[in-house]
Amino acid sequence: MTKPRIGISSCFFHADPTRPIFKGKTLLYLVEPLAHWIQSEGAIAYLIPSVSEGPHAASLADFAADLDGLVLQGGADVSPRSYGEEPLKPEWNGDFVRDQYEIALFKEFLKLKKPVLGVCRGAQLINVALGGTLYQDIPTQVPGAVAHRNWEIYDQNFHDLEIQARSRLATLFPGVKKTRVNSVHHQALRRLGQGLLVEAVCPSDQTIEAVRLDADGADSYVYGVQWHPEFQAPDRSETTPSSLLPAGPLLRDFLGATGKFKRKSR
Ligand code: MN
Repeated sequence: MTKPRIGISSCFFHADPTRPIFKGKTLLYLVEPLAHWIQSEGAIAYLIPSVSEGPHAASLADFAADLDGLVLQGGADVSPRSYGEEPLKPEWNGDFVRDQYEIALFKEFLKLKKPVLGVCRGAQLINVALGGTLYQDIPTQVPGAVAHRNWEIYDQNFHDLEIQARSRLATLFPGVKKTRVNSVHHQALRRLGQGLLVEAVCPSDQTIEAVRLDADGADSYVYGVQWHPEFQAPDRSETTPSSLLPAGPLLRDFLGATGKFKRKSR
């Protein structure tokens, strides 16, 4: 059986005339732990670049046709302009260029019914691509919410997670209703995009932490998690609290949806 070929959407370092390397050029990148997590079950990870115009140029549709699944990675804020709002503060402008690229990419994979997994910003992007909205800043717009981001401790910031009954997550983790996840975000899902179902919330402030597309009989697999599974141990925790949600089952579920996944024997 061939190995699943998984495309990862790019993060953008926009052209910066003050940068000492690649001055004035846009850089596209991914975060290494995400690629290593996807590859940990034998899938092969590829970075999907942005595309250029031109009659013979490769399109995002070509990438969707060529790959088996898409992971939308974390990074810059989603621009409020992508869901019809003005930024409440200039520092919450987000990355409109990246939004447009990722929304187009998401729609191409959806069109071909190829699985999509959104991580952190990726979950928010899925929501916006399906017509939903976000909180631009949790501390400002959800008074009393727990700390969903703490720069000092970054991926060591955790909060409780409540898994919804009859969710896909509940079938992946039978008997687990309450667990813990990391939290490195200051935006959150507000109005749900069309067809999305809430899979898990932060119980103390009801922040939406996981969603999936209700495919309604169709075979589209679209899943978004607000936490970073790639920063948590895949199956058994050694460096993080043992109560954390293991990241392996979600990855195998996503890869399984490609129809090309067979776990390597060890
Ligand atoms: Mn959170």
